[in-house]
Amino acid sequence: MKDDLEQAILAVHVRGYDGMCTGCRAWWSRLSPYPCWQVEWATSRQARTITARFLEGVR
Ligand SMILES: [Zn+2]
Repeated sequence: MKDDLEQAILAVHVRGYDGMCTGCRAWWSRLSPYPCWQVEWATSRQARTITARFLEGVR
């Protein structure tokens, strides 16, 4: 359940046809090259969650 925010961010912040983030443009009227900082944030959090789950499974 705590991955929901990350999933939502990744669903909204997708790469546009011009290489810019569509989520940032649609939601914040901001032109950010993809991946924007929110995608970076979400993916880094997700990577940590996946790693934690993997380690838990090993133990
Ligand atoms: Zn974005």
